[in-house]
Amino acid sequence: MTRAVFLDRDGTLNVDKNYLSDPAKLELFPGTGKALKRLQDAGFKLFIVTNQSGIGRGYYTLDDMHRVNERLLAELARDGVRIEKIYFSPEAPEEPSRGRKPSPQFLFDARDEFGLDLSRSYMVGDKLLDLEPATARRWSARRRTPCATLWSSIISRS
Ligand SMILES: [Mg+2]
Repeated sequence: MTRAVFLDRDGTLNVDKNYLSDPAKLELFPGTGKALKRLQDAGFKLFIVTNQSGIGRGYYTLDDMHRVNERLLAELARDGVRIEKIYFSPEAPEEPSRGRKPSPQFLFDARDEFGLDLSRSYMVGDKLLDLEPATARRWSARRRTPCATLWSSIISRS
């Protein structure tokens, strides 16, 4: 079964500009593309899982986010990187949400859609919140830990 790496976006792949809404301001960390290419070449499928509460807060629109994501995908494609899917939560923190991190819902969605082995997959993020879906500790004590976690510094350094 396929292994995956679930990547946070802001602060992990690109500099966190606090509610990034302008594709022109997207700034990838040096080495992001090359690091992701190595993961891809090692057999991992790559996904982005991102909370975009700026939409729910009214700071920017869904279209703004899609434009930023398009630029991001284009930049990564230059290094031969393919992102299978971007999972995003547009809700503000107080709003009900199906998949907003720390919910592990998008991991299970991806598992079902792409036939992933979550027990051999990883999450990478710059905040503890990004890693909580992998432990799913807020959800069910009986649910097995879906996947392992890594800090983004590992990617930045590679
Ligand atoms: Mg982040």
